[in-house]
Amino acid sequence: MKSLEELTRPNIWRLKPYSSARDEYKGLSASVFLDANENPYNLPHNRYPDPMQWELKAELSKIKKVAPENIFLGNGSDEAIDLVFRAFCEPGRDNVVAIDPTYGMYQVCADVNDVEYRKVLLDEHFQFSADKLLAAADERTKLIFLCSPNNPTGNDLLRGEIEKVLNTFAGLVILDEAYNDFSDAPSFLQQLEQYPNLIVLQTFSKAWGCAAIRLGMAFASTDIISILSKIKYPYNVNQLTQKQAMEMLHKYYEIERWVKNLKEERDELVGRFSELPLTIKVFPSDANFFLARVTDAVRIYNYLVGEGIIVRNRHTVSLCGNCLRVTVGTRVENDKLMEALGKYEEKYFHS
Ligand code: PMP
Repeated sequence: MKSLEELTRPNIWRLKPYSSARDEYKGLSASVFLDANENPYNLPHNRYPDPMQWELKAELSKIKKVAPENIFLGNGSDEAIDLVFRAFCEPGRDNVVAIDPTYGMYQVCADVNDVEYRKVLLDEHFQFSADKLLAAADERTKLIFLCSPNNPTGNDLLRGEIEKVLNTFAGLVILDEAYNDFSDAPSFLQQLEQYPNLIVLQTFSKAWGCAAIRLGMAFASTDIISILSKIKYPYNVNQLTQKQAMEMLHKYYEIERWVKNLKEERDELVGRFSELPLTIKVFPSDANFFLARVTDAVRIYNYLVGEGIIVRNRHTVSLCGNCLRVTVGTRVENDKLMEALGKYEEKYFHS
């Protein structure tokens, strides 16, 4: 791996971060706060939140078994995705490499930051080859994006290939584990010490059932976390979000139950979906959604919209011609989907 100084944009490496009132006074003994130009009325919403979210990180640390100093929290994992571009990629000069197809925000953030985005097509099993990915990289490649389980394909990437990239690439590897809770594959979180170039992304939006509160996590070496923390907005995770996340962490057992249910529902729904005459293939899923190739994705998508059921039409995405991406819902929701698709079949296959 190159040194972090070589990988970081020079202006960011030199940057002296904004120091907020809550950064400067961290003690616990004070009772009169006249330092942040807040309004003394309307407790508790009148006070700025902890800019570094230490209480939340301490609690999260127990569940994730990663030290608080190795955790960055942001406004969704989308914030961390944007920040890695801003921290490490020189606009108009540097580039990043990513598997294709994958989560669309990597490319959007590359485009916003004027950073060349190099895509390497997955194979017909939606797997990637480390050698092919590394062949697309050059001296100016700062980041490689991997997503496992991948969106929209739903499958885990091969662990051996991920390890090969981590062992060989001189830049940083962003491994997006947004859907890892639904997979039987272990997370890479416990490998952070082994791979100083690894950044693992996770989120409260999926297994934790908290997409509305916008809370994403990045896990990496303390040096990488310090750079991300230095360039974030001072109060990037608001107080209501921190409070709600704390409550969720205290009912971890509930999340485990949801995940178990959703995995069972997924397997059942995949089985039923595979039987439909309109289905050409359901791709294996390690996530809380699955990708299915159907006879006519656009027509079936529009039909379902008319029935009040929204799935994701992925027809125009690389390797996903005539594919729909279906999120696993409750049993009642899944039944409604299957009932509607049954009616579609009666209309188009038996008339
Ligand atoms: N990564 C992947 C792979 C995703 O699919 C999504 C959301 N669809 C995200 C990250 C974004 O998560 P967040 O809500 O934390 O911004």
